[in-house]
Amino acid sequence: MKLITYRYSGKEAVGILEGETVRPLPVNSMVELIESGGIPAPTGETLLLADVELLAPIPRPRQDVICLGINYKAHADEAAGYDAAFIKEKPIPIYFSKRVCEAVAPGGMIQSHPGLVERLDYEAELAVIIGKTAKNVSAAQAADYIFGYTILNDVSARVLQTSHKQWYFGKSLDGFTPIGPCIVTADEIAFPPALPIRARVNGELRQDSTTDLLITGIADIIAELSSGMTLLPGTIIATGTPSGVGMGFDPPRFLKSGDVLECEIGGIGVLRNTVD
Ligand code: MG
Repeated sequence: MKLITYRYSGKEAVGILEGETVRPLPVNSMVELIESGGIPAPTGETLLLADVELLAPIPRPRQDVICLGINYKAHADEAAGYDAAFIKEKPIPIYFSKRVCEAVAPGGMIQSHPGLVERLDYEAELAVIIGKTAKNVSAAQAADYIFGYTILNDVSARVLQTSHKQWYFGKSLDGFTPIGPCIVTADEIAFPPALPIRARVNGELRQDSTTDLLITGIADIIAELSSGMTLLPGTIIATGTPSGVGMGFDPPRFLKSGDVLECEIGGIGVLRNTVD
């Protein structure tokens, strides 16, 4: 099942996406739906997708997004080539967080922050949405705690990211987190997900990998984090990006105003955004 958040008649709503139609659900938000533990029957008139304004599936996450850094081998190599700060000596997961006041909608604008951001970059990522409170979950049980999957573009300001020791500021600027276009429920994707993941800039293929190449897999991520942190329903975990980001090229190829980003994951869709 594909679930979306959208605006229609001035109101934010949640629905099931079926082809080009939307079936409204009687809930106030995606997080409320996730917390309810089930998906109610649709109500009201079926809408045309073309008639609604698509929003990020979780427009305002309740907590920061939990991110994995350097979690594909080929990306680890390209990042180390760009800046020694990225050298990964041991395969220990790098966790960091990304603040998201308001996620960028599918079709929305990535903010380029002229005067503040010099090296704007993209990172197509598979994002896991936690479905129920997870504490001390074993790797073997982890899949049972996943509500679904979506696409997240972990937009990054490379200078800010590497000059402040911690990545938080350079990852968390307004307009840096496009999410969508939908959440695909976990029952529709075999675990662990082995899906093609790609990013294109102005139509040019930059990233092309599969989501089964994570260095630290989703089950181990959930097991490790939940061994000490409670993961609440609606928590978003961005699992890392494959190689082919702008800083990985020689010379690097950073984003500029007007660039069109497309992050695609097979079975989920395409998340398209433009740099302002
Ligand atoms: Mg990332």
